[in-house]
Amino acid sequence: MLHQTNAGSYSVFSSHGFAEVREHNLSLAKSLHSLDHFYTGDVICKFKAAAILKKPTYLTVQTGLDEHIHLKPEFLKFTNHSCDPTVFFDTSLMQFVALKEIMPGDEFTFFYPSTEWKMAQPFECLCGSDLCLKHIAGAAEMDVEILKRYRLTGFIQQQLAAKL
Ligand SMILES: [Zn+2]
Repeated sequence: MLHQTNAGSYSVFSSHGFAEVREHNLSLAKSLHSLDHFYTGDVICKFKAAAILKKPTYLTVQTGLDEHIHLKPEFLKFTNHSCDPTVFFDTSLMQFVALKEIMPGDEFTFFYPSTEWKMAQPFECLCGSDLCLKHIAGAAEMDVEILKRYRLTGFIQQQLAAKL
């Protein structure tokens, strides 16, 4: 089934109770969208490590210096980056948390440097937010004053404290 939004048309790639993965019909980019209403601070779901890797890939979330996990549930890997994120991966409590009120249809996005100290693939951000930082790399390479505006994992906070 085709759906039309301001961002263009998309198909539902897969559906997972509170969330669905959408695939944009032109770019084929996938994104994860809420099907429920969440309030700021809500635990949307718990997650686990399906696998633990020593090196990052573009699909892993960092949980320690040489510890990067593949997420379970797996569909959480479709959570894209935004400089104005809607969710946070709390890797201490292993909770996927709402950073703001989220309505059905809203995209789940997180701030990559909030979990990633060094990133496998730094990139130029096109999130379109007024707050867009343009160049996104691991927290190690980002401005500390900018990072302080964001919720960061315990691991990233430790790394920043050790660096200062
Ligand atoms: Zn951005």
